[in-house]
Amino acid sequence: MTNPLSARAARQLLESLERSGVTHLAHPSEHQPSQPPESADSDRTQAVEEELVSSLEGLSEAVAGCRLCGELAETRTQTVFGVGDPDARILFIGEAPGADEDRLGEPFVGRAGKLLDQIIEACGMRREEIYICNILKCRPPGNRNPTPDEAGNCRKFLDGQIAAVRPEYIVCWGSVAAKNLLDSTETIGRMRRKFFEYAGAKVLCTYHPSYLLRNPAAKKDVWEDMQWLFADMGITLKGQ
Ligand code: URA
Repeated sequence: MTNPLSARAARQLLESLERSGVTHLAHPSEHQPSQPPESADSDRTQAVEEELVSSLEGLSEAVAGCRLCGELAETRTQTVFGVGDPDARILFIGEAPGADEDRLGEPFVGRAGKLLDQIIEACGMRREEIYICNILKCRPPGNRNPTPDEAGNCRKFLDGQIAAVRPEYIVCWGSVAAKNLLDSTETIGRMRRKFFEYAGAKVLCTYHPSYLLRNPAAKKDVWEDMQWLFADMGITLKGQ
């Protein structure tokens, strides 16, 4: 599914794609001997460009070629864009790829990912029904936290994914996702159990699956958060 961006948003995204190394977007007029009147031409240019920059495929290609964060571009095996249903009602945001994700090119495929899969299953859903991505599309060496600059460089890609999927709900898994998306300094404990708003979606923040691996007692909190989310979607989960 592609969604047209506003002319301003499309222009900003194009400019940032250019800074990321995307230097050329094919335009049909390059192959046509005669030019239509200027206004029709510029309308069509805008339409073509909007289509390209608002598609997940176009964004994924731009991510694969991005070298804005020098250290990450040098050390990554590959970029990790996102997976799942491009029409998903729910979009998950994690922190950044770890070693397994860097190796396989898919978010949440390591130990934390297996736990995330169990949570999804317990909610009666399949991984493929959700759209899953991260704040960063490259693995930070040693799994360190993303720097503010790195998160800033990657933001246009995350915003592009959210604009393309247009989810009704976003779940921020962990404080890196929550604080970055919502520009908050609150702890995750204080951000739970309420909905924030971002790009037309209701945003729920909860503990990261990696935290649950270290603190299994917090699983019941995440389960409460999932019950809260699904209740809002009109779905009753077990134990409610
Ligand atoms: N942790 C994350 O936040 N994202 C991943 O993709 C994997 C682990």
